[in-house]
Amino acid sequence: MSQRYTFETQLLHNKHKVDPATGGVSVPIQHASTFHQVSADEFGKYDYSRSLNPTREALEEIIAELEGGVRGFAFSSGMAAISTAFLLLSQGDHVVVTEDVYGGTYRMVTQVLNRFGIEHTFVDMTDLEAVEEAIRPNTALLYAETPSNPLLKVTDIRAISEIAKKHSALTFVDNTFMTPYLQRPLDLGADIVLHSATKFLSGHSDTVAGLAVVKDEELAKRLYSLQNSFGAVLGVQDAWLVMRGIKTLSVRMNQSQESARKIAGFLLKQPLIKNVYYPGLLNHPQSGIQKQQAYGTGAVLSFELENAEVLSRFIEQVKLPVFAVSLGAVESILSYPAKMSHAAMPQHERERRGISEGLLRLSVGLESAEDLIADIEQALNTIGIFAVKKEEVR
Ligand SMILES: *Cc1c(COP(=O)(O)O)cnc(C)c1O
Repeated sequence: MSQRYTFETQLLHNKHKVDPATGGVSVPIQHASTFHQVSADEFGKYDYSRSLNPTREALEEIIAELEGGVRGFAFSSGMAAISTAFLLLSQGDHVVVTEDVYGGTYRMVTQVLNRFGIEHTFVDMTDLEAVEEAIRPNTALLYAETPSNPLLKVTDIRAISEIAKKHSALTFVDNTFMTPYLQRPLDLGADIVLHSATKFLSGHSDTVAGLAVVKDEELAKRLYSLQNSFGAVLGVQDAWLVMRGIKTLSVRMNQSQESARKIAGFLLKQPLIKNVYYPGLLNHPQSGIQKQQAYGTGAVLSFELENAEVLSRFIEQVKLPVFAVSLGAVESILSYPAKMSHAAMPQHERERRGISEGLLRLSVGLESAEDLIADIEQALNTIGIFAVKKEEVR
């Protein structure tokens, strides 16, 4: 593209803005699984939709441009994207994985890859010395997720990529929490960026999808071959939903992020809240790195109540957020990591990582911040009164 538009404009004005066949201003959904070929020795660009489909291809080109990579790939879920990218590894390889990685990725690494002779070490990736120490002669991959789930720890993507390069290893970054609007890992040295497009990119809690974007052609060819071999491709209806979601990404992100900042500030002052985790808070240990490598602090925060009992009372009182797994949607979503996203992790591992039974994660949606704060406040007040009454009874 000759002229470089701002990201907001790029979200709308890409090569798929107008359908060349009809002038339609929405990418057509091509349902065909197979494509007619003109002769026995001349095959067209499309032959079979697992290998390439025009609707999926449009999404793949859009995400590649937004992330600044050479090629994008759309998968049937975030885990399909992540698992397929892991298939770039071979038996005998070793991976260094950030320790508070998404629960499904933890399960993939510890219960699936291990059976294929792929070793792993979990490290706190905010500690670069620990990352260096975890590297072995057979380390082929450093896997980061930043800000991490659910404790919002920030990994220095540039530093991790440099360590990886020094040891001829690849760097993958799960960019689900930030999206390319707020963070572009390929520009910071990563080789592959991964997404659960189920979250902010589609943004409406109505589709499950995954994306991968690759920085160089050689790696792109290998990942394409794996996408086609493994076959966990995204369906065309879902590809269309993700493309529609992407058009409003920046306005959704801006609004949710601003509310998240206000809510984090409010929570910080509440006596019933033990800890607040949000990279936009000044007391966040890596707020400086976040500022350097990202254009914002996102719309997800976590906070800790005293224990599981107080937490369940809070959940009963709070009215606006849906209580559910997932994040990154127009409606606020409150989740319970210990019982939801990180249920696949053994209790002692969760506790060692600080994912306590009193921890809640809030993905801030598009409701007004004032309403959300008032709702949280009334819930805290109610459980506060309850706590006092209990004292009196004793
Ligand atoms: C949800 C999520 C995934 C998994 O994506 P699915 O679309 O649910 O398969 C991976 N990483 C992060 C950070 C997530 O939040």
